[in-house]
Parts: sequence; structure tokens; C-alpha cells
Amino acid sequence: MSQPTVTLSRRGEERIRAGHPWIYRADVLEAAADPGDIVVVTNQRGRRLGEAFWSDRSQIAVRMVAWGDERFADTGWQGRLAAAMAYRESLGIDATAYRLVHGEADRLPALIVDRYGDYLVVQALTQATDRALPEITAALVEIAGCRGVLARNDPRVRTLEGLPQTVQVLHGDVPERVECREGPVDYEVDVWHGQKTGLFLDQRENRDAAAKYARGRLLDAFSYNGGFALRLADRCESVLALDASADAVERIRANAARNGRANVEAREGNVFDELRYFEREGTRFDTIVLDPPAFAKNRGAVEKALAGYKEINLRALRILEPGGVLITCSCSYHVDEPLFLQVLASAAADARAHVTVLEKRMQGRDHPVLLTVPESYYLKCLILGKG
Ligand code: SAH
Repeated sequence: MSQPTVTLSRRGEERIRAGHPWIYRADVLEAAADPGDIVVVTNQRGRRLGEAFWSDRSQIAVRMVAWGDERFADTGWQGRLAAAMAYRESLGIDATAYRLVHGEADRLPALIVDRYGDYLVVQALTQATDRALPEITAALVEIAGCRGVLARNDPRVRTLEGLPQTVQVLHGDVPERVECREGPVDYEVDVWHGQKTGLFLDQRENRDAAAKYARGRLLDAFSYNGGFALRLADRCESVLALDASADAVERIRANAARNGRANVEAREGNVFDELRYFEREGTRFDTIVLDPPAFAKNRGAVEKALAGYKEINLRALRILEPGGVLITCSCSYHVDEPLFLQVLASAAADARAHVTVLEKRMQGRDHPVLLTVPESYYLKCLILGKG
């Protein structure tokens, strides 16, 4: 049986030669393939460029999985998953919750697998990974070993693929609350309903780094389940964790109690309002963490996002004591590092603060950046010192 084939335009071919794994529909000249097929990709002269996941719906029609003469079947799902796992093992991660598979960077486009203790949470974000879920699940159970696999297939991007938004158990059973550990902090996580797949695993290494500087009174703004607050609490006198979500605040309190972090206070509130309030009331902190949601969800939203980043950083610098430390993050990939640094510089200038860069950081190594896809460097984390 001959393999389905997709023919690309010259521009599509050039993108592949530049190492980019995504080809847009406009650069597909012909396709003889079914949704979710693994296709042979050729140029206009019929020359083989590699193999890819095919989507008949998304604007991202082609996601490369093999280059030149290489064949996906040489490794198959099993081989690629095993390689992703071997890499995580090599990192010596001090946690039972971390990312096992990070899509394109692990040569498994549009597939996310996170481990939470005894359970795995999977997201299949394109037709090919969705179709292969039974095979992927079987391979995961065999190589990773687990009590249950949950498909958190509720991200909205699935609708662009013509796929339903669902959450379902693929293997074993998965309880409402799952236990895991990140460094010294034990968590109870709601993998069924929590944001992302339950926790923001991409910040683990940044929390560790921040712990080296944290002291005195800590403000953890945009705290979610208390990731930074709980990790830094034993270095600080007092901790105030703020989040707009009542559920998140409830979870911070539960996790603080669970870990015996009696100095953590969690409060529901809008960070923009609270920062203004602290400034007015003269409330000051020695350590501040700013980890907002992606302000720029698309290119059109960048300008407004920059204003948002500027405002929170400016106010944070004003309420930070001299000698204090600001850990400030942006997970908008439309706001790249140079742009984020510009905003921070302008906030420092307006605050008339003498600010130095102590560390420039990014997402944890279990969420690797793919060098040929600059947008995959999405999480920036700056540790700044105020003179
Ligand atoms: N720092 C967290 C992750 C933060 S995710 C960690 O380490 O795990 C962003 C959080 O910001 C979400 O929990 C969301 O509920 C919250 N949020 C969004 N807008 C907000 C606002 N204006 N004020 C306070 N919290 C907000």
C-alpha cells in the first residue's frame, strides 16, 4: 500500500529546509491523504522532504516528524516516547510532577504528556496524535508505568482541528485529587479541572532559582495553586499569595496547610488593584513574584499586553524595598525576551529604581526550546535586584 502524500510549494520547502516543522495550508499544493495520516512530504519535483502529521482542517496542515530519508516508523511512537522519557531521567528532576513530552521539541508534534506522581495527563492537539491515542497510551503505560492516564483534551485549539473538547480516562482510573511533589513541596492537584494539566510545571526550575534570593516579606502575585509562595515560604518571614480565582486561593490554603507553611496567607484579589492599593497604603515587600497569565494571546494583543506588563512591573518596583528582589515572568510568546526586557527597563526608569539583572531564565528543561522555532521560547523569567 503506498503511503499518502502531500506536495509543498517552494516556500513550504524553504521553511522545511530552515528547520521549521510547521507548514501552513497555503503552502500545500496537493494532498492525497486522510485526516491524521502520517504522510510523505515532497516538493514540486516529487523529491522526498520527509514525513509529517497531516491535518485536513487546521491552518497548520503539516507537522514534520521525519526529515529527508528518515522514517517515522523507524522509531514509531514507542521509540520517540522512550527517548523523551530518557531525556527527563537524565535531568535528575527532584519532583514527581514534570513534563514527559513537550510536543515538537520531543519530535512528537502536538502531543503533551505530563506526569503527576502515579498518573499521566495527555493532550493530543492535532488529528494525528488524536487518532494515535490508543497506541500512545499503550506505549506510555508500558514504558512509563502508571496507575491511570487522563486525556485533558479540552484546549480550544482542538476545535481548529475539527476535534471535540473532551476530558476522559484512557487507562486505569484517575481520582479527582492526585498527589505529587515538587522539590520540598507536596501537592494535591486537580488534574481533571485545573489550569493547563493541573499545575504550571514549566516554572519548577524558576521557583528553585527564586528560592536562593527570597527573604523577608514575600508577595506572590498571580499565585494559582501557590507554586512560588509555597516553595519560597521557608525562606521568608511572611508570604502573601494573591489570585483572582477563588478555587485557586482555596487550593493555596489547602496546600499550605498540607505542607505546614503557617506563614502563608492566601487572598482572592485582582493584582492590578492590589498593587495600587499597596502603593497608596505604603505596604512594602522584600521579595515580589509576578507571574501573570499570557497577556498577549495573539499578535494583535501585543501592545495592550506591553501596557499590562509595564504597569504591574512599575508598581511592583515601587513597593519593593531597596535591596529587594523582583522575580518577574512573561509566558506570552508574542512578547519575546528583548521586548520584555525593554518593558522592564522602562518600568525601572519610571520607578526611578536602580535595577540589576541577577538572572535571565526560561521555562524548565523538561519543556525544551526548539532552536529553529524561536516562538517555542515562550516563558521568560527575570530575577531583578533593586538597589
Ligand atoms: N504563579 C503560578 C502560575 C500563575 S498562572 C504558579 O507558579 O503556579 C496565572 C494566574 O493568574 C492564574 O491562576 C489566574 O487565575 C490568575 N490571574 C489572572 N488574572 C489575574 C488578575 N488580574 N489578578 C489576580 N490573578 C489573576
